[in-house]
Amino acid sequence: MKDINLTCVECPLGCDINVETDGDNVLSVKGNSCPRGDKYARDEVVCPKRVLTTTVKTDGGEMLPVKSKEPIKKEELFSAVNHLNKIVVKTPVKLGQTISNYDGVEIIACKDIN
Ligand code: SF4
Repeated sequence: MKDINLTCVECPLGCDINVETDGDNVLSVKGNSCPRGDKYARDEVVCPKRVLTTTVKTDGGEMLPVKSKEPIKKEELFSAVNHLNKIVVKTPVKLGQTISNYDGVEIIACKDIN
């Protein structure tokens, strides 16, 4: 048995959550004030993910801030950044435009560049 203490980041309340595992499986989740915290804690213990935020080159020379539309497995973030480092985005580009894909996750522009 193993106890893992987390702070839920799904909303500003930041509930302190305790997860009990047997090493492979989640046995219990306590301290969450809502179901989102339960899901966050289980995902965090079994397969942690993060929204990727970074910048990519554009053909005009300006760096374009981008983010993944969905969280990416934490263990794959460096690989995703390496993938994006090889990209040069053709301008103009619009806020929210998909500029690439990584493992089925859309990477979108976070601002307009003309
Ligand atoms: S458990 Fe629910 S209420 Fe608590 S921080 Fe997470 S999302 Fe917010």
